[in-house]
Amino acid sequence: MQFSRIYASLPERFSAPLSPTPFRNPQIVALNEPLARELGMDPSWLHSPAGIAFLSQGLRPDGALPVAMAYAGHQFGHFVPSLGDGRAMLIGEIMDQSGCLWDLHLKGSGPTPFSRRGDGRAALGPVLREYVVSEAMHALGIPTTRALAALTTGESVARETMQPGGVIVRVASSHVRVGTFQYFAAQGDIEGVRILADHVIGRLYPELAETENPYLALLEAVTEQQADLVARWMLVGFIHGVMNTDNMSIAGETIDFGPCAFLDAYDPAKVFSFIDQNGRYAYGSQPDMALWNLGRLAETLLPLLNSDRKKAIEQARDALMRFDDVFNDTYLGGWRRKLGLAQEENGDARLTGRLLTAMHRGEADFTLTFRRLGDVVRTGQTDSLVALFGPGAGIEDWIGDWQARLGREERPAEASYMDMQATNPRIIPRNHRIEEMIQSAVAGDYAPFHRLVEGLSHPFDDAADGFEAPPAPHERVMNTFCGT
Ligand code: AMP
Ligand code: MG
Ligand code: MG
Repeated sequence: MQFSRIYASLPERFSAPLSPTPFRNPQIVALNEPLARELGMDPSWLHSPAGIAFLSQGLRPDGALPVAMAYAGHQFGHFVPSLGDGRAMLIGEIMDQSGCLWDLHLKGSGPTPFSRRGDGRAALGPVLREYVVSEAMHALGIPTTRALAALTTGESVARETMQPGGVIVRVASSHVRVGTFQYFAAQGDIEGVRILADHVIGRLYPELAETENPYLALLEAVTEQQADLVARWMLVGFIHGVMNTDNMSIAGETIDFGPCAFLDAYDPAKVFSFIDQNGRYAYGSQPDMALWNLGRLAETLLPLLNSDRKKAIEQARDALMRFDDVFNDTYLGGWRRKLGLAQEENGDARLTGRLLTAMHRGEADFTLTFRRLGDVVRTGQTDSLVALFGPGAGIEDWIGDWQARLGREERPAEASYMDMQATNPRIIPRNHRIEEMIQSAVAGDYAPFHRLVEGLSHPFDDAADGFEAPPAPHERVMNTFCGT
């Protein structure tokens, strides 16, 4: 294992050193062995007492201690100047087999100087939810933090009820957030912003160091990554739920799986998170919210962009304009692919929009609709697709127009079908399955967790696992809660 201590070696004000205390009885619930091997870690060592101390407390074989990272953030539009890792810690960076560096991070590992009134702990339920959803996102081809391990602590945490405690070990390209930049900028610490920006460029975007204005290039790159990421979320019906600036990664990865959820029936205004009472982070608002967050990042970088503030603002505005271009490319390209279209026609966006309108009217299940479009291409039968739509949706007319459009494709229908099956997942982590899995796990039965993880590791394959079924009315999850 090749560990580094890069972030922890930045100036003192970037993080707080920690001396973690052991848990009563830490035990591994899940270990992501393929990921461990990619990182050069021996799974049998991870199961040893030293490995478990590493996974639960962040105790490294080389004796270097973990740190809590400082950050600020806009939470639901309100700026909080000091948040930081209150129940998380950075163990450090590790180099994988191919020479790439990854952050190793624990969540639920105990109090830090940033804990404020929190207990620094995590309940097992949210830990398993993050494990399942982050690994599912990875299998769907969406940039995300990964889950290396989930553990129980042998201790209880007080939430609305007493819950078993848990720890998740996650892996990311970086844990620097938009809120990390805001932390320094809000204190007028321009030097801090510069050191952070140089760190991020060195770590994530090394090619930008050679450009004329590396900080402007950084803003452009982060804007492009986020635009692409959010478009990919939209294409699978993912709702992050808490797109606060402290939950937006500078690496363009999905991070912080709290009250996140996938759409069942399509509804652009859908919100699951109980704390999002005003619907700020509704499914359809995510692109606007991402761009808003990038505006906050841009503000922190202004002093580095240009000594002439007016020019700096113009440059930042131009960089943020990249968002729409990249978003639209990924978004429209993605819908085309979901509809089986390889060629481009001007009417494609409208065709997609009409399908979404019909899905909304007919309360059609998002995932099943697209999967069954593939069946229509293969068999010509439309019944199973039409059956997903309530009355008055107008889906029949749409199917006719779509089939006419498909008829203008140069490739054979079989090629469209194959492409659709590889882009329209059969299964996503459905909310009711996650709730069911958590209830079983808290009662000591991890079989549903392992079945879900296994199924979601190949979401495009056909299988008779029953995971594609939408919730029955009594199974429908109305609200999700923050991962505390
Ligand atoms: P999150 O909701 O996970 O994005 O967290 C928002 C902020 O609250 C971060 O600064 C967290 O570290 C902090 N936080 C959340 N839960 C806890 C907890 N149980 N103990 C201490 N800090 C927490
Ligand atoms: Mg967070
Ligand atoms: Mg957090």
